[in-house]
Amino acid sequence: MHKLFVSPEDIIENTVTVSGADVEHLHALRVREGDKMAISDGVGICYDATVTEVRKNSVSFSLTDGHPFENEPKIDITVYCALLKGGSNEDVIKQAVELGANKIVFFSSSNCIAEKREKSEKYAKTARQAAMQSGRDRIPEVVGGVSFNEMIEGLRAADVSAFFHEKAENPFYDVVSSKKDPRSAAFAVGPEGGFTDKEADIAIENGIPVVSLGKRILRAVTAPLCALSVLSCVYDR
Ligand code: SAH
Repeated sequence: MHKLFVSPEDIIENTVTVSGADVEHLHALRVREGDKMAISDGVGICYDATVTEVRKNSVSFSLTDGHPFENEPKIDITVYCALLKGGSNEDVIKQAVELGANKIVFFSSSNCIAEKREKSEKYAKTARQAAMQSGRDRIPEVVGGVSFNEMIEGLRAADVSAFFHEKAENPFYDVVSSKKDPRSAAFAVGPEGGFTDKEADIAIENGIPVVSLGKRILRAVTAPLCALSVLSCVYDR
């Protein structure tokens, strides 16, 4: 079911009215009075909602039962992705949100050819729309651009971490299957030109497993999708 996100303070006596870009989305879905939807407060409760009024610039709902979040993964996953060209960053955001990532962080590395231009607003909008479409309970956070070293620090802080390098031999699955019930996972995917061997050495020096996603070279947009599928198979059943 499509999901709407509101702030807890927007809910007044079991009713809520949305405006702005969400209304465009609801008009596109051809929402009518009496239709049922799910509305998340983004913090902890998801409500069963019924449309009570559809106007040009606003849509109102009455909220009935509230449930604790049910669609969030059991594990907190952060995707570190090198800044990519064209619209590829947006593609990574969409797919990562659908596949259960909790945070998507873009970083710069030696072979990045993408311009380092912050598009935080656009990224946040893409994450919000993907969360609505895929029925997430929470909107994942997107961070525009951190350094390679900050990415390494982020990987170090996670219970399960991986640095993907097409020259690596150890399979990602071996890292994942050797950790029981981790609370967090984080992995890094390189840019179109890949990571340099020196960058892979820095990961190794920091105790981060440098691992493979198989014998074929995946595009930078495909690698996060593959890694998230493995994580959800193992930890989110
Ligand atoms: N340097 C390569 C392609 C890089 S692919 C070339 O130009 O031929 C972009 C990123 O996807 C890599 O940096 C890596 O993080 C990830 N990746 C792609 N295929 C992979 C594989 N088989 N195993 C591990 N990581 C992979």
